[in-house]
Amino acid sequence: MKTLIRNGRIIDPANERDEVGDLLIVRGRIAEAGGADGQEPELEEIEATGLIVSPGLIDIHVHFREPGFGWKETIASGARAAAAGGFTTVVCMPNTSPAADNPSTIAWIKNRAEETAVVNVLPSGAISKNLAGEELAPIGSLVQAGVVAITDDGHCVQNNELMRRAVEYARMVGVPVLDHCQDYNLVGNGIVHEGYWSTLLGLPGWPSAGEEAIVARNILLADLADHRIHCQHLSAAGSVRLLREARTRGVKISGEVCPHHLALTDESIQDFDSNYKMNPPLRTERDIAALLEGIADGTIEVLASDHAPHAGFEKEVEFDRAPFGIIGLETELGLFLDLLVHKTGTIDLPRLIRMLTVNPAGLLGIKAGTLSFGATADVTLIDPDLEWTVDPETFQSASRNTPFAARRLKGRAVRTIVRGKTIWKLQAEG
Ligand SMILES: [Zn+2]
Repeated sequence: MKTLIRNGRIIDPANERDEVGDLLIVRGRIAEAGGADGQEPELEEIEATGLIVSPGLIDIHVHFREPGFGWKETIASGARAAAAGGFTTVVCMPNTSPAADNPSTIAWIKNRAEETAVVNVLPSGAISKNLAGEELAPIGSLVQAGVVAITDDGHCVQNNELMRRAVEYARMVGVPVLDHCQDYNLVGNGIVHEGYWSTLLGLPGWPSAGEEAIVARNILLADLADHRIHCQHLSAAGSVRLLREARTRGVKISGEVCPHHLALTDESIQDFDSNYKMNPPLRTERDIAALLEGIADGTIEVLASDHAPHAGFEKEVEFDRAPFGIIGLETELGLFLDLLVHKTGTIDLPRLIRMLTVNPAGLLGIKAGTLSFGATADVTLIDPDLEWTVDPETFQSASRNTPFAARRLKGRAVRTIVRGKTIWKLQAEG
């Protein structure tokens, strides 16, 4: 089976390629174009004039709720949401039930993904048993079982000595450590950014220092262990400053930013709508400016969604009782294109694609995120100028918890291809 994607703008940052041309896929792999002349009976042709032909996008931070919480999202529904958002590879977080802190749960997730997921679902494993931060998970066995990273996401190991040993084990077995940065003593029961709005509304504050303290800790431990720690969903200006300084010294520290921390501020919480409740919380214009600066100068080199599905009945309760998090896979690319490329000009299209393909692949050390000849044909076609309105009712995700309903966005994935096969295609509106 052959597929020829015709006349698109091929952007493949791994190969510094940016040109209009044809992309040929033969038996699920990228092949040399020019071999196909349109005469072959089995040739599928896809017209891509005006479209970006990108390596399949990678999101290293999603919560698919299996095992344990299938009413929020299953691996199957989460994978369909990924496909609809243009993502062909995702890394799912270990805060399931049971937690992904043992090889048999990893095997279960991999098996479930193989049987039900339309995209590549790569498991991460826990740092500590049951994500409790007290005793290390069997990191070596987790890696043997197939995890691509370790993280206690949703939780944060508070004991610095335990975290040091986790980073040293991770170095021995060759996976990065991803960390949700939250100092429990500083944050306490905080649920929104500590500042003007938390004071006015009388909601417990989650100070920026609660994130920055752990970013600083991670810099020290990455330096000490000489191994990669990647700080997840950064929200605070001070975190960017710390990261920038450490990276110029060559410390193996990195960070990611999610769309909501760029699109929204803590001002949004004044209606007590729990779709604006996330962890870390929405912060201020000043923080957004610092995150944009960090993206522009390369301090931040990975973008992710923190796709966190919750059912309506769980989110539709008092603000302080609602769970943290929003879904993100189906609005992620549109928001990043809109905010980073179209509205602010923070980065150009090739940089955006780099941050969603080769950079996360490099962080994880996985073979993905490129259109090199012979590579697996995971490809995303993007219309960077398509204007659309977010309608959660059309989402593939099993959940609807998004603050972006009715938002107008510019830019969207229009076709998602995994191993040479179209697994999702945008239907014309109307
Ligand atoms: Zn988190």
